[in-house]
Amino acid sequence: MALFITDQCINCDVCEPECPNDAIYQGEEIFEIEASKCTECVGHFKEQQCVVICPVDCIFVDPGHTETAQQLQEKYSVLTGNAFDPALEKAESI
Ligand code: SF4
Ligand code: SF4
Repeated sequence: MALFITDQCINCDVCEPECPNDAIYQGEEIFEIEASKCTECVGHFKEQQCVVICPVDCIFVDPGHTETAQQLQEKYSVLTGNAFDPALEKAESI
């Protein structure tokens, strides 16, 4: 699933630069996630970087954008042009 940001967001802007897919942007009132670009960090990191760094824990999986692990891997390949390789996913968090 892609992730989404709730209205608990305090607009601190620490998540946006950490997203490997440039999926996070400043919306009209709070930061938002472009679902078509969010792979849950699959292909890049083992942990969802925005979730790890958010100080108020306001980022959750979006039940409106359900995707399987395989679909997320394919999404990664389409976005990056690289074949998915679990060995390349960085284990360490921010
Ligand atoms: S889970 Fe990863 S890819 Fe999705 S918005 Fe957060 S940092 Fe970006
Ligand atoms: S880290 Fe959390 S509180 Fe800060 S801008 Fe991102 S979603 Fe909002």
